[in-house]
Amino acid sequence: MLLVMNKNASTEEIDSVIAAIKKQGYTPRPIPGGERVSIGILFNRGPVDGTLFLGLPGVKEAIPVTRPYKLVSREFQPRETVVQVGNVGIGKDSFAIIAGPCAVESETQALTIAKRVKEAGADLFRGGAFKPRTSPYSFQGLGKEGLKILDKVRDVTGLPIVTEVLDLDNFNMVEEYADVIQIGTRNMQNFSLLRRAGLSKKPVLLKRGMAATIDEWLMAAEYILAEGNSQVILCERGVRSFVNHSRNTLDLSAVPVVRNESHLPIIIDPSHAAGRRDQVIPLSRAAVAVEAHGIMVEVHHAPEEALSDGAQSLYPDQFNVLCRQVRSIYDNLRSGREGD
Ligand code: PEP
Ligand code: MN
Repeated sequence: MLLVMNKNASTEEIDSVIAAIKKQGYTPRPIPGGERVSIGILFNRGPVDGTLFLGLPGVKEAIPVTRPYKLVSREFQPRETVVQVGNVGIGKDSFAIIAGPCAVESETQALTIAKRVKEAGADLFRGGAFKPRTSPYSFQGLGKEGLKILDKVRDVTGLPIVTEVLDLDNFNMVEEYADVIQIGTRNMQNFSLLRRAGLSKKPVLLKRGMAATIDEWLMAAEYILAEGNSQVILCERGVRSFVNHSRNTLDLSAVPVVRNESHLPIIIDPSHAAGRRDQVIPLSRAAVAVEAHGIMVEVHHAPEEALSDGAQSLYPDQFNVLCRQVRSIYDNLRSGREGD
């Protein structure tokens, strides 16, 4: 249930509605809007009787919420969320480009790539210090040393840092260094990790589980919002399918569905979807056309020597081409839409 307040509702009226919701044993969640405040009712078991609140001063409407997820839904918040990371706003009408290697391998490697992607026009730098690898014998990331390298990259280039957290043990450490905390596909339903991310003041990039439905994905995001952190960026990175021409199958149709269902920004990761460098530029172009709010792309200056995901990493020159093409499609779409 969502209680929509009158435009000129006073603070006292809002406070007394909040108190009335608590009195019924529910949890109120005020949602500031452009023009008016709405108050969501959470943690109700079974339907809420709207008439309990409709007569209270300042209450305009009681709207039943039909979706299983609430805080992430457009029913609760029609206004699109823009996640602010430094100078970059991700969401609504913007298109953000996040780029960098799969893993931080050394200071020289990270700085070399960061300078190239910055020159090409990337908005944020990505790189894993903790890597979720299928084999325990594969490179697992540099850990804290990797985070310190990312700190240096931010100092030198000014690019905000996106990096993955794998577990609760290292959450505080990753949170301290990251500008955006990534939760990977394998952890999409790690509920204790989601809850901890919900307590963070840092934005969270939540990847779609490789076999997750959109409802499951949005419910995972709901865990983060329910704890108080509404700065969530969703990331479609391909789902498992029967094909063998790519590592996963990029589900582009997730973008219009998620944009319709949720106010949260959604970006595309074409690198993990494809698993092969030759598909990354075409899929990035498609991401703009389908109106994603950005892309996250793996780039390496020497992919043949990369310690992880070399096959899908673009050479810096290819990333230049990608940025040019993607920005040009974006600008065209935008100017085409201005006359609508
Ligand atoms: C990554 O971004 O490096 C990564 C491990 O991605 P995913 O969780 O999508 O596999
Ligand atoms: Mn990777």
